[in-house]
Amino acid sequence: MNILIMGPAGAGKGTMSELILKEYDIPHISTGDMLRENVRNQTDLGKEAKSYMEAGKLVPDSVIIAMVEKRLQEPDCQKGYLLDGFPRTVVQAEAFSEIADKIGKPVECVIALEVDFEVLKDRITGRRICPKCGAIYHIRNHAPKVEGICDECGAELTQRKDDTVEQLVVRMDEYEKATKPVIDFYEPKGVVMHVNAARPKEEVFGEIKEALGKIA
Ligand SMILES: [Zn+2]
Repeated sequence: MNILIMGPAGAGKGTMSELILKEYDIPHISTGDMLRENVRNQTDLGKEAKSYMEAGKLVPDSVIIAMVEKRLQEPDCQKGYLLDGFPRTVVQAEAFSEIADKIGKPVECVIALEVDFEVLKDRITGRRICPKCGAIYHIRNHAPKVEGICDECGAELTQRKDDTVEQLVVRMDEYEKATKPVIDFYEPKGVVMHVNAARPKEEVFGEIKEALGKIA
């Protein structure tokens, strides 16, 4: 099962990824983690990436793509992969498409999680977190027993600094600009699955599972 997962912050990408991994026994590959791992293990590609990072430059696509190519050929990818946060651009998508074909692991499903702006706004602005134990609440959907107080540890709940409407608008704009063209690139291949993620997670995952079941 070769899967890409995409969705704006707050669409539940983390939750869906976890559920997919449990079901299909494939590795979760995020390019950020992969990059850090290569640098830490001082692989040739890691060293190359590091030289760019130290010069304050972006790691070029060719390096990232070479890392992905290598990663996907590791034994744990035998049953497939769940790629998260890659490809980020059409240029990357085109290059990745060639490589994925070459190593016999073409993308079979692009899960595009979609959430209406108003729903995201409500999710994000209503979110309260416990600075002490990390518990997450929502003032309407998952309210603590006592307003503003963590059920688990009694600490006072706070809001994340970037959980504001202004930040959400910026993030959504960035997401649209970067990701929409990538989804459009995969659309003619008939592998894109648009999922309305503004529903309970069981429902969202149910739909994903059904679609993936048809591929497997
Ligand atoms: Zn707490």
